[in-house]
Amino acid sequence: MAETDELIQKISTRVDKDARSIQDFFVKMLRVKAVNPRMGGQGEVERAQFLEGYLKDNGFSVTRIDAKDTESPHGIRPSISAKLQGRDDSRNLWFISHMDTVPEGSRDLWKTDPFEPVVKDGKVFARGSEDNGQSLVASLFAMLTLRNLEVRVPFNVGVWFVADEEFASNFGIKELLARRLFKKGDIVVVPDAGSPKGTDIEIAEKGLLWMKVTTKGRQVHASLPKKGLNAHRVGMKLALDLDELLHGKYRRRNRLFDYPVSSFEPTKKESNVGNVNTVPGMDVFYFDCRVLPEYDLDDVVHDVKGKIRAFEKRYATTISFEEVEKEPAGPATRSDSEVAILLSRAVSRVSGVKPRFVGIGGQTVGNLFRMEGIPTAVWSTIDDVPHEPNEYSKIANLINDTKVFATMPLLSKV
Ligand SMILES: [Zn+2]
Repeated sequence: MAETDELIQKISTRVDKDARSIQDFFVKMLRVKAVNPRMGGQGEVERAQFLEGYLKDNGFSVTRIDAKDTESPHGIRPSISAKLQGRDDSRNLWFISHMDTVPEGSRDLWKTDPFEPVVKDGKVFARGSEDNGQSLVASLFAMLTLRNLEVRVPFNVGVWFVADEEFASNFGIKELLARRLFKKGDIVVVPDAGSPKGTDIEIAEKGLLWMKVTTKGRQVHASLPKKGLNAHRVGMKLALDLDELLHGKYRRRNRLFDYPVSSFEPTKKESNVGNVNTVPGMDVFYFDCRVLPEYDLDDVVHDVKGKIRAFEKRYATTISFEEVEKEPAGPATRSDSEVAILLSRAVSRVSGVKPRFVGIGGQTVGNLFRMEGIPTAVWSTIDDVPHEPNEYSKIANLINDTKVFATMPLLSKV
């Protein structure tokens, strides 16, 4: 215990001493543009080369995966990795951040050049500073600090800097998972979402289902409705029935989530006839569903289809169903799992806050790991300004999170 305390103190002192060079490195990296090619950018190649060079200069051997992408300017989408060997070489603690950024958006809204970082009032202003540069640099320097202090880590501690998170992760994490570069027994931190004081450790996400329902009717003059079938009326009734059915059946609560139940919201409605005196022959509505991870999305779909069939029978018409988007949620990472415990201990030791475990209604790449059965925590200390003009990262958060990441592996036996 005393030994661990001493080590944690040593790490803290060392990171503080290196704070200026960490900041300088951060600024230098942000200058190397890495806008996602699907958003009109040059891609990650230059930034990957910059990071690869730095890792190699510091004595690390680098694994590099170049996913082929003929639509990108360089034809490849690199992801790179390095790790520090631990006593148990069969397991890895991975910090996974992404190199790519979104474009700057409206240049007029920026007070400074988004690709020429400006340090002001303890913040670094630049596109990609918070999302996801801060965490990338923090994880890199956490690993470097452990190496420089010759800390014997209990398992391998490694970083992945991946491509394509801002679009669909097809050329990044999905490629790496397909190549089986992560295994059961690994634990993963995805520092790509967070809270201003670093209190929130995200361990669960909801499954996402967007559905489109198209109801056919028979279009007639509104003065003779019996001749036709009002698709709009049938559609509205169906939407309300689905609303009631889903809320009634999937009513479990999960306190991890600020919105602790599944949500089923009728949202988009396509326009039908252009004039008031026509009975619509077609009706299209959509639902956005965010389903607690303890439920299976296929069960929801099955119930929806059952209700649709009943309506088809009742109104003697055809109603089609389409899954516009379906992203199932992996099982929540347990709050007593190793990654959750290590991270919450490190956060309370370093940041001096009492962390809480949370679930979110959106989805991060953390979910892709949970789908593979790998326990994953999503955490960082950020003001939450990604994709905004004048995006920034607080230098104090960069330094704090570097310490948290470096401290994590030391707490495994405490
Ligand atoms: Zn991000």
